[in-house]
Amino acid sequence: MKNQLTQLLDIAYLSYDEQGQIITLSEAAERMLDLKPRDVLSQKLVFIDEDFKELSISEILFDPIFDQIELGVSIDNSSVTWVKLYSFRQEDLHYVRLEPIEELISIRRLNKQLAIRDPHTGLLYRDAFISKIKEQPHQGTICCVRICNFQRISEVWNIGVANLVFMEILARFQGEFDKGIFSKHSSDCYCVFIPHFVPINIETLYKQLNEPFNFNGNSFYSNVSLGYYKEQPDDDHELSLNKAEMATFDSLSDHNRLVEFKETLAKQIERQNKIETGLRSALYQGNLTDSFEVVFQPIHDTKTERLIGAECLMRWQLDGQPVPPSEFIPIIESTGEINKLTHFTLSQINVLKGLLAEEQIEASLFRFAINISVVEILDVNFTTRLLQALDRLALNPAKIKLELTESALIDNFNYINEILQKLQSQGLMISIDDFGTGYSSLSYLCKLHFDEIKIDRAFVTHVVSDGKMQSLFNSIVSLAKNLDKPLVAEGIEHLDQMIYAKAKGVEYVQGYYYSKPLSIKDFVDYVVADKSSYLHFEE
Ligand code: C2E
Ligand code: CA
Ligand code: CA
Repeated sequence: MKNQLTQLLDIAYLSYDEQGQIITLSEAAERMLDLKPRDVLSQKLVFIDEDFKELSISEILFDPIFDQIELGVSIDNSSVTWVKLYSFRQEDLHYVRLEPIEELISIRRLNKQLAIRDPHTGLLYRDAFISKIKEQPHQGTICCVRICNFQRISEVWNIGVANLVFMEILARFQGEFDKGIFSKHSSDCYCVFIPHFVPINIETLYKQLNEPFNFNGNSFYSNVSLGYYKEQPDDDHELSLNKAEMATFDSLSDHNRLVEFKETLAKQIERQNKIETGLRSALYQGNLTDSFEVVFQPIHDTKTERLIGAECLMRWQLDGQPVPPSEFIPIIESTGEINKLTHFTLSQINVLKGLLAEEQIEASLFRFAINISVVEILDVNFTTRLLQALDRLALNPAKIKLELTESALIDNFNYINEILQKLQSQGLMISIDDFGTGYSSLSYLCKLHFDEIKIDRAFVTHVVSDGKMQSLFNSIVSLAKNLDKPLVAEGIEHLDQMIYAKAKGVEYVQGYYYSKPLSIKDFVDYVVADKSSYLHFEE
């Protein structure tokens, strides 16, 4: 009990007036700071922070914007005592209470140091880098260097070797620009600020960074991407860093790995982010019918001109503006949600079936083509889910055609070929989309399980006027004939293209010549007006 009381009384506190003259102080404070009543604090003490920078004594004593602060108190400019200082004011007097923290200060300094600098390279971390470049009075160039094969080197060798490669690529930059401010942002990326008065030839530098090198008897090929931004007057350094980083990310998606940030890139990235956010809410909130639409593009028989079916294509709008599938489909593929769209398409075919029935038209007169992405077919549950959905919707598999791009089929050939065979055995039809744009060889086509070839629009557009296009087109046609598979030509916009395709023996055509992709209601009207399909059926 006595002990506790002594401890309680052993608190270091002092009070002082508006002039900073001590009025009262406890024994503990007297011992700690070697002060006496009536000493004037500003004459005896200096306050410092952890970097040993002097702090304003009057702000701390008379105008504190804090309840507590950690600082060093230097008494008579000699020893430093580290304390936690609590300050408050009562009536005319100021009070401070002091708690010693002396034993922690060296660890604190070390921890602070570790939070600022990477201990292996000595480079500043991102936040510290930003603070440092913000202090720079000049504009400059900010470069972000990423070692693209860092992960690969660390897998093949080990992380130690990868770190050495990092050090080598860093040393090359540092060797050229000792005036730069360097920082490490992740295990495979560092950034540099080079003030404008230092001349820089970015192309030469980039080449140097990408020179191969030998290390421990092994050769390494650098695979470095460099994104950079040249600051304009009044640019904010932190925003400039973001721009250089954006350029580096952009360079990863491209073969060109030296990328200068341009405002168009920011717009591109902003749009990409907007699309991603928009898609996320479209996919996860509410009904898919609220945001997505399936449109139907008619496919006709060239001989009879009859409507034989349609390709189902996805439509999506952002802020009332249509976003092309080439922009949003890859994003949905990357989220692993593309099967949601396939199932949505199937449900829309079912709705169409109902609408046609209201017009006394049998949907089974037509075959509907749906596009399947490679990521989707590689999903082990693809076949089961698809067949279950067809069953649930009472859709006849024989009336559904799956369009897969040629390139999708070549990778993972054996696996996909097995899946195709299984799908065919259930009655589904397989079409090779965008044919001619891939690198199919005859030997692999002979083994592939498919039912139809769709010639890419690229071969159709100039087929009538361009002799080279004609020979390409013709060779695709003869290939299909040799394989005994029917052909669909897409992108038929004009009568002469249609006549050409028909003359070469192409069985089916799709394109603006007949119709653009139509909304579900317009497609029903199209079928009703067309009559070719069902009148023939009624005869
Ligand atoms: P695709 O399968 O090659 O689709 C044909 C594209 O050509 C469609 O573009 C269609 O609107 C367009 N087209 C048709 N006829 C003509 C014509 O006469 N002239 C011109 N200039 N264009 C024509 P769309 O709808 O923009 O689709 C682009 C691609 O997006 C499709 O290429 C397909 O690969 C993909 N896609 C669309 N919907 C889906 C979907 O639901 N799922 C998946 N996985 N992919 C889809
Ligand atoms: Ca297609
Ligand atoms: Ca196509």
